[in-house]
Amino acid sequence: MIKYGELTTKGDNRGTFIKLLAENIKNAMSDYKLNITYDFSRMFIESNIIDDHFIKKLKNVFGIHSFVICKKIVSDLDVIKNEALKLIQEDDFKTFKVETKRSNKKFPIQSMEVSRLIGAHILKNTNSKVDVHNPDIVLNIEIRNEMTLIYTKEILGSGGYPVGVQGKGLLMISGGIDSPVAGYLSLKRGIALECLYFEAIPHTSLDAREKVKKLLNILNEYSGNIKLYIVPFTKLQEEIYKNCDPTYNITILRRMMYRIATGFARKRNCKIIINGENIGQVASQTLNSISVINNVTNMPIIRPVVCFDKSEIIELAKKINTYETSILPYEDCCTIFVPKHPVINPSLEKCEIEESKLDYELLVKECINSIFKVELNENFKEYL
Ligand code: ATP
Ligand code: MG
Repeated sequence: MIKYGELTTKGDNRGTFIKLLAENIKNAMSDYKLNITYDFSRMFIESNIIDDHFIKKLKNVFGIHSFVICKKIVSDLDVIKNEALKLIQEDDFKTFKVETKRSNKKFPIQSMEVSRLIGAHILKNTNSKVDVHNPDIVLNIEIRNEMTLIYTKEILGSGGYPVGVQGKGLLMISGGIDSPVAGYLSLKRGIALECLYFEAIPHTSLDAREKVKKLLNILNEYSGNIKLYIVPFTKLQEEIYKNCDPTYNITILRRMMYRIATGFARKRNCKIIINGENIGQVASQTLNSISVINNVTNMPIIRPVVCFDKSEIIELAKKINTYETSILPYEDCCTIFVPKHPVINPSLEKCEIEESKLDYELLVKECINSIFKVELNENFKEYL
């Protein structure tokens, strides 16, 4: 039985939220044969197999506040007594409490009385005490119309919104630590992800691309539907290094990345761009730099980790399992040709002067037109 995450506060949209959550669960758990039913307050998943893998997978689906593994039994007092005793004995406990809900008013015994009778049965057959205030374990009994459910432990889900409920965003993914975490946080808010990776072969390697694919395969554990697109960036990048003031290279490079990302996001119907920028982390992420770089686009740019400390980002990266892959040492297009002293207070006028030294509109257009998709199946090597 699933208890919904934040989506229950969403009024009229609830129906859409819940339907999407059911679809996402089905996709994430395609290894299992499931029967999913739901109403506005609860969702039920029936499965013959419920193992640790099942629980781990369900924990990764956004939009779930918590869930419990219930046993479904017939609404008969003797059956409830026996099954309740069996279930509670699966755990170690000294004190317990029974809580009963009876939505089936035809069931002849009131809920308080059911709790009392079952409690007495447990007391008689175990070495334990009742504690209604601070019990080691709570045995829940829900007497519904068609059946009775009994359960004990509540397992916390990931919270958030079902992925996709907010539409699509374009994630600028590098092989670093920050952007996969930014992606994870966006998925958690219900944003479906298409990802854009800028690559400058031969200055960057195909191993670097593999690393990005691996990171997205890990993020796919939380979504299952991420797409990856690659921008061949070498020519534009070389033009910048040949023609522009070296101290402005990174600023201009990033303005080009934003222009390309904006053009591609529009093409793919992505409403926002997401990246892993973080205030003060590098020269291109001072407030001044962000302002000058952001100036090339009017598309909203979401920066989920913008105010995190690096240690907080790393902690999250470890939690979501991307960290070990992120720290593999491959060059990124942003780390090649880095000038000794990149400007930290760039001026917009100077950017425009430097950019006028190249035919950047054409180069940007060429980049957008040559973007290609790669599959994210782990065993798939499309360039072999
Ligand atoms: P990360 O920020 O992911 O740890 P990084 O620190 O190497 O990687 P930065 O130079 O801080 O990257 O870049 C800031 C952001 O710009 C990244 O978080 C990412 O969103 C985007 N970015 C950087 N390089 C690329 C790239 N090659 N392709 C797509 N996006 C990129
Ligand atoms: Mg970074």
